[in-house]
Amino acid sequence: MTLQQRIEEALCSAVRTLPAQCEALIRKTCDEERSTAGHSVLSAIVRNIDMASSSTLPLCQDCGMFLCFVEVGRDSRADVGRLEDIIIDACRRAAHRAYYRSSVVAEPVYDRVNTGDNLPPVIHWEVVDGDCIRISFLLKGFGSENCSSVRMIRPTDGEEGVVGAVLDMVRAAGGKPCPPMFLGVGIGGTMDKAAVLSKKALLREAASRHPDERYARLEERLLDEVNRLGIGPGGLGGDHTCLSVCIETYPTHIAGLPVALSVNCWAERKAVIEVIGGEVW
Ligand code: SF4
Repeated sequence: MTLQQRIEEALCSAVRTLPAQCEALIRKTCDEERSTAGHSVLSAIVRNIDMASSSTLPLCQDCGMFLCFVEVGRDSRADVGRLEDIIIDACRRAAHRAYYRSSVVAEPVYDRVNTGDNLPPVIHWEVVDGDCIRISFLLKGFGSENCSSVRMIRPTDGEEGVVGAVLDMVRAAGGKPCPPMFLGVGIGGTMDKAAVLSKKALLREAASRHPDERYARLEERLLDEVNRLGIGPGGLGGDHTCLSVCIETYPTHIAGLPVALSVNCWAERKAVIEVIGGEVW
């Protein structure tokens, strides 16, 4: 199989099946939810998951925008110059084959004419150690993306400031991002770096913990405090507003503390393709 075919297959699968960890969290949450309305929403989500995975239909009518992170190992001998074209071609073919809704407009303010093929993707490139190339996708729905945001809090605001900023943003989102949601939090860097970090946080395995135990505790605290807001599944009230919080950090300036929140809905659709060493494509 060529690399283009591998990416295409992964994207065809990602639009109708959730990563195992995400699906397990949703099923567990459905069993545990105490609110009648919340349980009913979660039961519908579980039925939706079952129907999509046993058919050729997408999980949701909004199949999202292709958001792609490419990590290129500095020792890779692969032909990186061709990679962007391969990714775009795979996205185009997957969108057609797997019935992605055409959700992208070519120009954002005036014409807003649909590109008709869900292209272009948003691609972030990064050089990393090693000889592997890792291509990660989020199929980013926009009900939840519209609730994502960045706050530039004061450098002295510390953990309480981070928690307050995240809770404010989630409270403002309410039921709009189709909860229960997955949250990615980016802390540090510049405004734009924090936003990218928050997306990378969503790429981590759901409910995995940060290696620094202070941030691992903060992930757990945020999960708990967001769930205490009571927004609940579908925004109809209940125990489960959030399924997972993952944090990524970066050094920042002495005068600032950027905090970005990327909100993802229950349909946390992801795909990862790895190319090892000098593998030919
Ligand atoms: S936010 Fe998610 S679940 Fe809601 S419509 Fe968009 S993609 Fe679908």
